[in-house]
Amino acid sequence: MESEAEALAEPRLGQPNPVHEKTLPRRVGRNNVIGNKSIPKSYEYTICDWLALHRLSAERVEDVLKEISHHRPNVSTQPRQPAHEPSGLRASDAWKLSARALAWKFPHAAEVILDVSRTAELLVASPETGVSKPFTLARDKGTAPLVSICFAGNCLDVLAMAHEFGHAVQYSINADVFVNPVQREIAAFVSERVLLEYVGMLGHPSASGIRSAHISDDAIYLGGDAQSLSLALTNPAAPYRYRWNYPLARYCAARIFAICQNDRLWNAIQGRVLLSDLLETLPGTKN
Ligand SMILES: [Zn+2]
Repeated sequence: MESEAEALAEPRLGQPNPVHEKTLPRRVGRNNVIGNKSIPKSYEYTICDWLALHRLSAERVEDVLKEISHHRPNVSTQPRQPAHEPSGLRASDAWKLSARALAWKFPHAAEVILDVSRTAELLVASPETGVSKPFTLARDKGTAPLVSICFAGNCLDVLAMAHEFGHAVQYSINADVFVNPVQREIAAFVSERVLLEYVGMLGHPSASGIRSAHISDDAIYLGGDAQSLSLALTNPAAPYRYRWNYPLARYCAARIFAICQNDRLWNAIQGRVLLSDLLETLPGTKN
């Protein structure tokens, strides 16, 4: 999760290794070409690795980015609601609220979800500690994930908690399975959407503030992050940035949340829907 305050932070936490070491080559292979541009012989990870990992072409991603540019919220036209104002929730409240929201949305999986809320380790830092970026750490099989978050109690923090809780649920379910970064972020963004729906349904006093926080985060994920990804597609040697995962994941999460049944949404949270299938749900994209 990134909030406005940490939008430019690098590298993105949430994964100790930005991309899975075992799934990417250390050197450029034959497929690492965008258009007719040449690429260097050795490096760490580049945009080409990121595309290969997700089995995407640069053209496909460009199509999605075009769609995103048409749907990006203009924050200046949104009502100014209190995204940064106190939610009145403590970190433990936000954690439980995130769990209840998912259990409400996916009642057939409620037991698993509530088990994650009980067993995952939640480390909460106050803003004075200087700990900023929230992250969720997958641990060995049989050990529940660890979530670390700086929680000042505003609506952005509540949203961040739902985001990390989504990661924790996915890690708990898929302890042994590699899930690519875009699919991981889709799970977290769907969890945020479920929280939005849940607090709206409850008429929670912070519902409008949480929605406002979500809109302001949209402007980052679908704005600056999308532009960064677009720029990287023009340079095959562009060094990998975790934030490239956000635009596609944010947009996919919004689309599937709007059009998919709950069972498919739950499969997406588990990372069990292929990214290529998820992209099919986007308007204007093609194979
Ligand atoms: Zn995340």
